[in-house]
Amino acid sequence: MSTALRVCALYPELMNIYADRGNIAVLRSRCEWRGMGFELAASSLGEPLDPDAHDLFYIGGGQDRDQAAVAEDMAATKREALRAAADRGAVVLAVCGGYQLLGHSYAMGATELPGVGLVDLRTVREDGPRLIGNCAIETDLGDGPRTIAGFENHGGRTYLGEGEQPLGRVLAGHGNNGRDGWEGVRRGNVIGTYLHGPLLPKNAWLADRLTELALDVELAALDDTLEDAAHGSARRAAGV
Ligand code: GLN
Repeated sequence: MSTALRVCALYPELMNIYADRGNIAVLRSRCEWRGMGFELAASSLGEPLDPDAHDLFYIGGGQDRDQAAVAEDMAATKREALRAAADRGAVVLAVCGGYQLLGHSYAMGATELPGVGLVDLRTVREDGPRLIGNCAIETDLGDGPRTIAGFENHGGRTYLGEGEQPLGRVLAGHGNNGRDGWEGVRRGNVIGTYLHGPLLPKNAWLADRLTELALDVELAALDDTLEDAAHGSARRAAGV
């Protein structure tokens, strides 16, 4: 067992809307509170990516213009490494704009941004309002049904291909497209979601579950009185 969680942040300076980097701070703190190591690396524009050097690959959300800067580069310089990492069971966590880039494409009018095709999904910027608000979903990451609560704000609508599994069922909010009742995607340890908050500060249990999946370990519980209160408040904000 590795005693350190090795995280690689993809495009951290470009893909960090709604303080999504807070997700990394939570992973770090929870490792350190348990006496585990935590290593953080980054890979940005034009930089290579070693599929074997990290346990968890993370990409946050971004505005359309930031995604445009990232999309071609990610497809050109990170696609193969991300596929290799996913194939060996590394965790890939992608939030909102990063989630959209996990799929085949993000179509914005006449422009179509490429994705890395790690999962079978497409995102389309359709007419209609942005999908904004507090959101809660029910998920099961192998440890029973749990609730993830967060905040979503996206113009893109995401549609999963046949046979692709969502991360969860929408309890409140819009989810992938405001129509089919699904939110996010999960294929093995590849997880995409529209939920900011940031995601992990509002759902500390999820930070632990991702760490368990990334390292193939079972973690001892921490005193999560404050974290549980934050989770409860995020759930109530979504009306769940
Ligand atoms: N730019 C994307 C959209 O609007 C993602 C936004 C985000 O990451 N919050 O759909």
